[in-house]
Amino acid sequence: MSTPHPREERTLVLVKPDGVKRGLIGEIMHRIEQRGLKIIALKMIWATKPEMDKHYPKDEVWITRLGEKTKKTYDKYGYDLKGELGTEDLFEIGKMVRGWLLDFMTAGPVVKMVVQGVHAVDMIRKIAGNTMPYLADMGTVRGDYSVDSAAAANKEKRSVHNIMHASETTEEAKNEIANWFTEDEIYVYKRIEEDIQF
Ligand code: ADP
Repeated sequence: MSTPHPREERTLVLVKPDGVKRGLIGEIMHRIEQRGLKIIALKMIWATKPEMDKHYPKDEVWITRLGEKTKKTYDKYGYDLKGELGTEDLFEIGKMVRGWLLDFMTAGPVVKMVVQGVHAVDMIRKIAGNTMPYLADMGTVRGDYSVDSAAAANKEKRSVHNIMHASETTEEAKNEIANWFTEDEIYVYKRIEEDIQF
C-alpha cells in the first residue's frame, strides 16, 4: 500500500477562547500561511460541552498525562500537590484538569480550521510551541503570546491558557477533523507555489 504524499497531510487547529479574546486569530493564521501551509477549512463557533468532550480523549493514558504535567511543575517549584489538589493520584488530577479544560474551551468562541501541507501535524505543533507557556520557545505562538503553567492554573482551579490547539499525530488529526468538519466544508485548491515547476 502506498502512503500519501507528505504534502497531503492535514491537521486541526483551534484558536482557543483566550486567543480569540486577545485578537490573535489573524496573527495565528498569518504564521500558518506565511510558513506555506494551506488553510482548507475555517469557521468560528461557540462549542458546547458535549462537543468539546468529544474532541478531547477520554482514555486513562491521556488523562494521566495531564496529571503528570501538573506533577512536573509542582515538583519543580516545590509546591504541595496533595495539599492543594487533595490527591497525588495523577489520574484523579488529570480528570480535574480535563474538567477545567472543557470549562475553558466552552467559555467563549473558538476558531476551528483544517490546515494542509508538508508534515502539517509536526509543522503546526512547532508553530504552537510547548503545551506549557513557561516552557514554550520564543518565536512560537505560545512562547510569544502566553504566560502560564500547570502550577499557576491548578492553583486557580483552571486549565492552562495557551492560545491554540494543534493535533498531535496524524491519527488524532483524522479523528479531530471528522469531529469538527464535514467533507463538504473542506476545500481542495492549490496555493500558487504548488504550481511552480522547476
Ligand atoms: P497540547 O494542547 O499541547 O496537545 P495536551 O493534549 O497535553 O497538550 O493538553 C490539552 C490542553 O489541556 C493543553 O493545551 C492545556 O490547555 C491543558 N492542560 C494540559 N495539562 C494541563 C495541566 N496539568 N493543568 C492545566 N491545564 C492543562
